[in-house]
Amino acid sequence: MFSPDTINRFESAQTPFYYYDLQLLKQTLNACSEAAGKYGFQVHYAMKANFNQRILEIIKDAGLGADCVSGNEVNKAIETGFSPDKVVFAGVGKSDREITEALNHEIFCFNAESVQELEVINTLAAKLGKRARIALRINPNVDAHTHHNITTGLEENKFGINQWELPACAEVLSRSANLWLEGIHFHVGSQITDLNVFKSLCIKVNEIKAWFEERGFNLNSLNVGGGLGIDYYQPDENAIVDFTKYFEIFNQFLERKQAQTVHFELGRALVAQCGNLISRVLYVKKGIKKNFLILDAGMTELMRPALYQAYHKIENITGRHNASRPVIKYDVVGPICESTDCFGKEVELAESERGDLIAIRSAGAYGEVMASGYNLRDRVVSLYSE
Ligand SMILES: *Cc1c(COP(=O)(O)O)cnc(C)c1O
Repeated sequence: MFSPDTINRFESAQTPFYYYDLQLLKQTLNACSEAAGKYGFQVHYAMKANFNQRILEIIKDAGLGADCVSGNEVNKAIETGFSPDKVVFAGVGKSDREITEALNHEIFCFNAESVQELEVINTLAAKLGKRARIALRINPNVDAHTHHNITTGLEENKFGINQWELPACAEVLSRSANLWLEGIHFHVGSQITDLNVFKSLCIKVNEIKAWFEERGFNLNSLNVGGGLGIDYYQPDENAIVDFTKYFEIFNQFLERKQAQTVHFELGRALVAQCGNLISRVLYVKKGIKKNFLILDAGMTELMRPALYQAYHKIENITGRHNASRPVIKYDVVGPICESTDCFGKEVELAESERGDLIAIRSAGAYGEVMASGYNLRDRVVSLYSE
């Protein structure tokens, strides 16, 4: 929902750009921290969702940790001021350089994704005379019931260690002097809206936790990853997800000892709704079967629709105050030379004209971070509400 003042501001700005509602971001972070705090849960922000500097700083100031998936993300988190003891480093292909840098930063924990990676971290830690804290990223074989391109917790996915490999991990851990088993880690997918998935995950975590404890491993932390989905269809009605309901599930179904800390890695649920891609209609193409609205933003600014047929709500925010315009169905497309460069098909919009402002909603997660220079496009810029 944009106020007339905001739309006036957009009118005089060069499009396309990301518009971030920082007030909404802060409210979302408050809601999350309050709900997690009730149970002493620790939340790390999955910074791959959006590493815009302004956003990172607000999240750091809110007291969250950082969940990183590359060495550069680890470095950026620490430069931004996240405390190294709140930084976790996941990723299926960590390079030697990335591991070494993270060891030098003394980060909280490596989420290790294979037996071989354990051996490599041990060797690199030994060279530096350090002991690396490890959480094993275990593939729980829980179906996230989300789009197959963003499912990560099934045996067929590249992520994590499968359960039959756990004896091999235990063996490596018990003979590796430079590794310390901190805990276990899971992440089953993204944009999960069926909360039963998290209940199934808890049951799996309990099982695997017991396996380790029976073998004499004491686990300090249980990291259940992220993946909480948001409402792309009603961004104004459901601007903040129900964090209370989400954390309650883990409190209810996850078995833990007093001393065990529970960690979460939320990305999308924290930043998706505060971001919008604002664009202008360049051309209207009227056809016999189809009408096209050609925007000045494309998959180079927001790739999710092209990458995994993601839905984003699209609004004509110039026309919305003019109720007398008829509603027409448009295929809303970008200028990039790819047929998948389409934000939505048969989108019902108020009859639109060249120069109208178009808002693509809920674009704060996996939007700006995936922007590319394909077609030698300009780097997308950002505006903020204060
Ligand atoms: C991407 C990712 C997350 C965050 O996922 P969201 O769906 O944005 O909450 C958390 N943990 C890991 C390991 C990830 O790769």
